[in-house]
Amino acid sequence: MSRDGVQVTYLGTNGYQFEFNNHALLVDPYFSRADLLNIALGSRLLPNAARVTEGMRHLAPNPEAILVTHSHFDHLLDAPTIVSRTHARLIGSVSAVDLAKREGVPGGDAVTSGDVRRIGPWTIRVLAATHDRLFGKVPFDHRETNGSGPPQHPADWICGEPLAFFIEVGGQRIYIDSGGTPELLPPRERVDLAILGMALPDSRARLPAALEHLQPRYVLPSHQDNFFRPLNLGFQFGPLTDFPRVRHDCEQANRGRLILLDYFRPWTLPRK
Ligand SMILES: [Zn+2]
Repeated sequence: MSRDGVQVTYLGTNGYQFEFNNHALLVDPYFSRADLLNIALGSRLLPNAARVTEGMRHLAPNPEAILVTHSHFDHLLDAPTIVSRTHARLIGSVSAVDLAKREGVPGGDAVTSGDVRRIGPWTIRVLAATHDRLFGKVPFDHRETNGSGPPQHPADWICGEPLAFFIEVGGQRIYIDSGGTPELLPPRERVDLAILGMALPDSRARLPAALEHLQPRYVLPSHQDNFFRPLNLGFQFGPLTDFPRVRHDCEQANRGRLILLDYFRPWTLPRK
């Protein structure tokens, strides 16, 4: 393994830590993992401080930024807490930054597709994405938040503008989304690692096209675990996932090597 390679750590759901030369970047860190019944009932939803603390034990102490693909609770709920404990810069859509502000974390960096941010060794390009439908529609599909106090319920964590990110560091290129259809991928630029959300059928339907477009060296299907169970119970596929199909389509496409990561087990992206 290369000593100066990018280290990738899976945090569950669609959460990742990327590390490079003592710099760290997070995407969609979510440790609270509220249970399904509470979400289905629309009960009060707050970060689980103990679980966030436990999850953060696996993180570098000073991540430079937290990227958020969209504002649903399973992507954004814990980010304000982590920002307040680390002073990382929150980068997400207008609604993500607004929800974080209502959680008491001002100063987020609102981005939209086409934006570029350079932070430490990281160059981050923001791309447009769409969100998968769940039983025929995008959950909590609003672009703008309403209200001004802290979000209280699952529906307050609206989708907002879904984003994907193209991250370049140390000569390596990582594409990450949380599902949906890529609209503005860089045209046939070399991608070393493609992290593709595969929670729902819409994502699986576009997998062959995404692989053809990105031509990644490594493919990591993401957002496949049952994120209603706490992390300490271990990885279990979510009920709406279909890993055999994902694996089949990756084999058929023969574009890149398929990998899976377990929680909190760092993996170094090999250099070409
Ligand atoms: Zn979502």
